[in-house]
Amino acid sequence: MPRTSRRDVILSAAVAAAALGLDKSLAIAAPARGQKTADPTRGFFRYAVGDAECTAVYDGIYEKTHDPAFFSNATVAETKRALADAGLTTAFVPIPISVFVVKLNGKLVLCDAGGGNQVQAFHPECVFVSGKTVANMRAAGIDPKRIDTVLISHFHPDHIFGLLEKNTNAPVFPNAEIIVPAAEYRWWTDPSLITRLPPGHRPLARRIQAVIPHWKNVLPVEGEDEVMPGIRFVNAPGHTPGHTAFHVSSGNQQLMISGDAAYVPALGAAHPRWHGVFDWDAVGAVASRRRLLDQVIADNMMICGSHFPWPGLGKIARDGSGYALTTVHST
Ligand SMILES: [Zn+2]
Repeated sequence: MPRTSRRDVILSAAVAAAALGLDKSLAIAAPARGQKTADPTRGFFRYAVGDAECTAVYDGIYEKTHDPAFFSNATVAETKRALADAGLTTAFVPIPISVFVVKLNGKLVLCDAGGGNQVQAFHPECVFVSGKTVANMRAAGIDPKRIDTVLISHFHPDHIFGLLEKNTNAPVFPNAEIIVPAAEYRWWTDPSLITRLPPGHRPLARRIQAVIPHWKNVLPVEGEDEVMPGIRFVNAPGHTPGHTAFHVSSGNQQLMISGDAAYVPALGAAHPRWHGVFDWDAVGAVASRRRLLDQVIADNMMICGSHFPWPGLGKIARDGSGYALTTVHST
């Protein structure tokens, strides 16, 4: 059920991030046992993109043990060097998870939903903490019940399990319209997919197929339509078949909400040709990554991403054969 909507979003000048008022009285829960990375002092970070009020919301972190299969064309030593180059720990791969709330043109929009405290790491030494989104949204003064729209970049667990209540699969945002890329929806809801997936990925597809097609508030959208005034889809396939970024435009400012296109920028942006095990089509992912980052640079946009260093916001520039992210630091 694709829908047609206005397309011609004008791409124009830069976004200047500006921290708005923040409530310092709201504390964040203690780190989970085994978690080595401290949670941010405040689990939300607010900034402006034109008239849009954007809020980065911290969902958790995946502390992944090193694994030679992580990149098919980069070694663990190269991975550690890339992390060190970015000033990150090399003891494990730090993969923070953020979601983004955009308040624009009278609508409150949640971009991806985090892991809902339901994502399991395959390796017992890995730590996977997620599901802090709702508490941190409340800390930011955002009532989850008032979310009008949820945009989903792709159907990986750290992006969609936050839509589902643990155990019951009940919708966490029952009043919101959930807009998803049609290509992603078609891929994951095809019954023949289950047997084509590696066994470890089948439970995810089964859960998606058992729940998502039965929800009345899910709207698949084709192509690069404007999904609401000021926000349009941007095709970035490869990480998954329908992986999609979100472009926010207000006044003369723009923000690219890049999903997993650049993944952890110390790895994916600095070394855009690396083929990650997390990418369904690694060659396609490289092409999408370059196209998206080149567009962000050409149009002088701000960029944020689901696994960028907290608070997930920055500027990207070319750096040798790759890209370098300069992050905006939270206070
Ligand atoms: Zn992800």
